[in-house]
Amino acid sequence: MIKDNLNIIRETIPSDVTLIAVSKTKPISDLQEAYEANQRIFGENKALEMRDKYQELPKDIQWHFIGHLQTNKIKYIAPFVTLIHSIDSASLLEAVNKEAAKNNRVINCLLQFHIAQEDTKFGLNMEEAKALLESENFKNFKNIHIVGVMGMATFTENMNQVRDEFKTLKNIFETLKKDYFNNDDTFKEISMGMSDDYPVAIEEGATMVRVGSKIFGARNYSVNS
Ligand SMILES: *Cc1c(COP(=O)(O)O)cnc(C)c1O
Repeated sequence: MIKDNLNIIRETIPSDVTLIAVSKTKPISDLQEAYEANQRIFGENKALEMRDKYQELPKDIQWHFIGHLQTNKIKYIAPFVTLIHSIDSASLLEAVNKEAAKNNRVINCLLQFHIAQEDTKFGLNMEEAKALLESENFKNFKNIHIVGVMGMATFTENMNQVRDEFKTLKNIFETLKKDYFNNDDTFKEISMGMSDDYPVAIEEGATMVRVGSKIFGARNYSVNS
């Protein structure tokens, strides 16, 4: 099943868009099935759950952290995480930098922006992002690297609204690129789109899509946390 789902989704995704299989809450056996179908990039939103799965599964998997990250949990994922999608404050970035340094690593990160109308979703606004990028503190962070932006659209069936929110994130990316990362070819990622809206996200410029339930089936809880 998981293998079939993956293959169907892969056919709809251009080769230059990265598919992140969001495996949060799912058992190891499900991830193994996806691995056997050649999936190597997984997304998780709880630090301890991700650490446990990392320990059990093959080491060529790339682990993407996509949830709200508490500073006291960074230490569990800092030794191995490939990309943190959810940097939503200067203090979180500082804490990631510190844990990355302890592990002699440079951790790639995305700045998460608040693009949805709901106020339940985390994320920076443009003003906060600019303050962060212009701070003296930021210039001294040697163990993090910002490679792009991430956002979550409003949970709605109104695809026009979702599309507008994706356009907003794309514009934010272009502005930051021009003002802060013009000479940095590694600042190139736009992480947006989930099971219900990833085709729209790709049309609007996503370079990474985060797909969970369309691959692994519905999760066993009602709150989308
Ligand atoms: C759960 C989650 C996803 C995947 O959601 P689906 O609707 O199951 O595809 C994507 N991004 C984030 C940040 C998530 O928390």
